[in-house]
Amino acid sequence: MEKNTQEATPPTTTAGKIIRCKAAICRNPGEALVVEEIEVEPPKAWEVRLKILCTSLCHSDVTFWKMKPGAVSAFPRILGHEAVGVVESVGEKVEGWREGERALPVFAPDCEDCRDCRSAKSNMCASFGRRGMVGFGMLRDGTSRFRDGSTGEVLHHFLGVSSFSEYTVVDVVNLVKIGVDIPVDKACLLSCGVSTGVGAAWKAAEVEEGSTVAIFGLGAVGLAVAEGARMRGASKIIGVDLNADKFELGKQFGLTDFINPTTIGDKRVSEVIGSSISTEMGLPIFTLHTMHEIH
Ligand SMILES: [Zn+2]
Ligand SMILES: [Zn+2]
Repeated sequence: MEKNTQEATPPTTTAGKIIRCKAAICRNPGEALVVEEIEVEPPKAWEVRLKILCTSLCHSDVTFWKMKPGAVSAFPRILGHEAVGVVESVGEKVEGWREGERALPVFAPDCEDCRDCRSAKSNMCASFGRRGMVGFGMLRDGTSRFRDGSTGEVLHHFLGVSSFSEYTVVDVVNLVKIGVDIPVDKACLLSCGVSTGVGAAWKAAEVEEGSTVAIFGLGAVGLAVAEGARMRGASKIIGVDLNADKFELGKQFGLTDFINPTTIGDKRVSEVIGSSISTEMGLPIFTLHTMHEIH
């Protein structure tokens, strides 16, 4: 049965026009975001304009928020790359999308056509991957669809998504269709953090049935790694985190064991992990780091 991705909303009357709306703008590195009125241009060829329904904060937003202007950082900028939106209008040459459909913007492009996108072994699109990560504008022509509502100043895009705005414009290769029955506050986590974690266990490490997995750091990505390992049939999933409360939470995602590095005395975490594993099993041990900082 075809998944229902269509919203029960009438066609928009804004197609082809500039939309004025609110966005959280980052004017300078490390400064508080300011919510101001902006202008969002209509989508050009291969582009889709989305009304953002829900967006969440990923640690990469914080990393870029702090970053001094340089090769991958420019201000003013609209951050945000985990979100769920509904298609407001589509540009020329866009096929397979129409207004009212529910969409998950994903910062990693998938053109479905290049050698890397056709391969199960890569997720870095050969045609657009690098441009999508380092650019400040739209994927194909590099220009911005955002203007400051009062001065007309160009506002830069972020990771091809810029979801800290009521409306944004995204290239069609950065969109995945999702059903309308998934709660938006959960679906938006699939846009980056949860996919990263589940994918690390499922695709990158290819965790095997019956194996042991150690996860360093139990934030959103680490917990998603546990979920991916559980789905792949790992029999022992060890979480390592300084916050003891993460064990109870982690059990819901498949954790079977927990190590708090502050309560193991002079032992190293690797020793504790080693002593808890049966050497007769002879199965691979996977270790996955999800921490940004290790103290
Ligand atoms: Zn992210
Ligand atoms: Zn590609």
